[in-house]
Amino acid sequence: MTRFAAALAALCLAAAGTTAVVAAGPATAAPACQVGYRVNQWQTGFTAEITVTNGATALTSWALTWHYAGNQAVTSAWNATVRQSGAAVTAESLSYNAALPAGGTVSFGVQGTYSGTNAEPADFALNGVACGDTTPPVTTTPTTPTTPTTTPTTTTTAPPPAGCADAAFCDDFEQQTGSVPAGRWTVGAANCQGTGTVTVDSAVAHSGTRSVKVSSPGGYCNHAFFGTSVPGSGVLYGRFWVRHTTRLPAAHVTFMALRDTADGGRDLRAGGQNQALQWNRESDDATLPAQSPAGVAQSVPLPTGTWSCFEFEIDGAAGQLRTWLGSAEVPGLVVDGVPTPDVDQQWLGRAWHPAVTDLRLGWESYGTDPDTLWFDDVALGNSRIGC
Ligand code: CA
Repeated sequence: MTRFAAALAALCLAAAGTTAVVAAGPATAAPACQVGYRVNQWQTGFTAEITVTNGATALTSWALTWHYAGNQAVTSAWNATVRQSGAAVTAESLSYNAALPAGGTVSFGVQGTYSGTNAEPADFALNGVACGDTTPPVTTTPTTPTTPTTTPTTTTTAPPPAGCADAAFCDDFEQQTGSVPAGRWTVGAANCQGTGTVTVDSAVAHSGTRSVKVSSPGGYCNHAFFGTSVPGSGVLYGRFWVRHTTRLPAAHVTFMALRDTADGGRDLRAGGQNQALQWNRESDDATLPAQSPAGVAQSVPLPTGTWSCFEFEIDGAAGQLRTWLGSAEVPGLVVDGVPTPDVDQQWLGRAWHPAVTDLRLGWESYGTDPDTLWFDDVALGNSRIGC
């Protein structure tokens, strides 16, 4: 029956003066909590947006626990502090979302890796009380197959984001519903805040219908970035698609920064100078390639008005770095451990074994150079992801 037909039937009943009796089911207590578990997964990684609806008891802080049935391993989280010990996971509230009124809802997320089957957890408990488990256990005849009664969860498995390969982190921004990147992403500008902007954009996208747009009028304090933590350790491969508007200027600019804890927490930066791509080490301002004409000639411009696939490899243990644009390695953007004049001779002037812990994308001009950029299909992993 359509809603209209139902309404019509109700109207007819009312018109006929009939009293409709709604049969009440057995009285049941409200569940202690309900959990929605919305998964987005790809070959070896996943994110899960977890929504907790509280029962009748207001909470001043909360902890949600569950167990994974497989080898799921949480690598990062947002809007909660998440710990994992073996299969057991505990997500604890943060100061800003600790208070959970009766019937209130809170959401947080985790990112992780898995192999085989990524089954959703079935034993959520909120502050030690199993969700949905408010009635005494029902005795069932052993021969009757039963379905789990613990948790009313819903799982929506979206298609994997584009070209994730076996990346541990992969985001096409299609799940962003607000005006600024949220969830695993944090928007910020270090040191000073100007007029640079970071927004989720539904007008321009490399995949799907959404990307992240960064716009800056130039000048350091108008820098704007959105960032996330880097999962895991070991050799780091990154891949993202970038589209920008104004050609790389003569002066130094940055569109990607990675915090290097092995270099005093200073940034390892990728951007441009002399109209070609370059890497820059914030701690000593070393550039890759050297900004000699011969060095710059071994780098390439970043095309404007089109999507480009930017890839990098950072091997901290070996102290090596490689860079690809459009799947082609850029010879001037290689640190291979053997000092090459005009390329990595300056870079290798001191020991360098980066340990990066975050990735920020955006725009930072140390002069007055504006740009508007879009980023999409960001992936991080321990092997090359490809375009
Ligand atoms: Ca997208």
